[in-house]
Amino acid sequence: MNSAFKYDLLVVGAGLYGAVVAHRAHRAGKRVLVIDRRSHTGGNCYCEAQDNIFVHKYGAHIFHTSNKEVWGFVNQFVEFKPFVHSPLANYKGEIYPLPFNLNTFDALWGVKSAEEAKAKIEEQRLHLDREPQNLEEQALSLVGRDIFERLIKGYTEKQWGRECKELPAWIIRRLPLRFERNNNYFNDTYQGIPVGGYNPLIDGLLEGVEVRLDTDYFDHREEFDAMAEKVLYTGELDRFYNYRFGKLEYRSLRFEEQQLPQADYQGAAVVNYTDRETPFTRIIEHKYFEDRGTDHTVITHEYPMEWHEGAEPYYPINDERNTSLYAQYRTLADAETKYLFGGRLADYRYYDMHQVIEKALKSF
Ligand code: FAD
Ligand code: UDP
Repeated sequence: MNSAFKYDLLVVGAGLYGAVVAHRAHRAGKRVLVIDRRSHTGGNCYCEAQDNIFVHKYGAHIFHTSNKEVWGFVNQFVEFKPFVHSPLANYKGEIYPLPFNLNTFDALWGVKSAEEAKAKIEEQRLHLDREPQNLEEQALSLVGRDIFERLIKGYTEKQWGRECKELPAWIIRRLPLRFERNNNYFNDTYQGIPVGGYNPLIDGLLEGVEVRLDTDYFDHREEFDAMAEKVLYTGELDRFYNYRFGKLEYRSLRFEEQQLPQADYQGAAVVNYTDRETPFTRIIEHKYFEDRGTDHTVITHEYPMEWHEGAEPYYPINDERNTSLYAQYRTLADAETKYLFGGRLADYRYYDMHQVIEKALKSF
């Protein structure tokens, strides 16, 4: 503890990463201040209660992990309701189960067994004698042309604002591919939704910690730096260095929320619209995360858009240009002694919540 500073640790960003580190530091007897530029804690996990429905304000958030320590950790703060994420795809009015599994292949081709499905894919898949170089090659070589055209191409190009050929192959490998009838979107051992949404988890993590909202670090940078011995920064790394090597690209989103005076809208938590023409990528119906008996419902249309200053940077775009630009910033970050960095934005990585928690626990 250094008494020249009011705080031992300033955490910039009250998202999951910042909250986990703040929790650990506070528990270890450190004097911690957390700030966030938004008017609430929780970052992108934040939920809002609307007449008994917990609305995921920044898109559908399903917790999943195979890490027992992470699962045990979050369960200390909040109870999880078992939930198996099984989104549907709507391609020009035709409905297909996701992720790609025998139910999808049956709906598409009428095949009834793994053998028939594999034969169908084999007929139309791209045969490469090298590793796939981009998302299009990866998708075509894994699942063939029909699935690529109906369920991947339009959705991906809307989501990322780029051709599938310009995107890294691993993005599509996030999705399971199965030859059995199993619509579980994740392969993880544990999966659920916190009862009452994610706010009780964040509140539990930040219990006893001083938090200042509506506070942007860059508005008072010198002042904040003078207050704390160490600074954990979980925002965009290029902004931290005043964009000196150039700007990293992000994908942003626009959420259009509606409360409807009817008990049900689409009968499922998430429906993806996979054609290119529909401007949104998915519709979320929040009540299906918790199965609450209300006579109204809340839905959100999710529209992808290019990031511009002032918009929220939701997704890093890990293509070649951005990856090498990020590496330049990372070299600066790795040499810092006062400043620590972590989370989806500072690491410029497409992390899920369990990965963020795992990283935060390890870093502390
Ligand atoms: P963030 O949540 O982005 O928090 C960073 C915080 O820092 C923000 O609150 C921001 O306001 C603040 N900040 C930044 N700069 C400053 C500054 N200069 N001054 C003050 N404050 C600042 N994960 C899953 O596991 N399952 C899912 O189903 C899932 N669905 C998702 C759906 C969408 C649409 C998105 C975008 C993400 C999804 N994720 C999901 C990922 C999940 O949201 C992230 O892994 C997690 O929230 C990242 O936490 P974080 O703390 O790193 O970042
Ligand atoms: N994807 C797709 N069609 C779908 C769902 C996903 O092509 O119906 C692709 C798309 O490129 C997306 C990626 O798979 O960016 C990863 O999907 P995931 O659901 O993990 O995206 P997230 O929920 O993180 O936005």
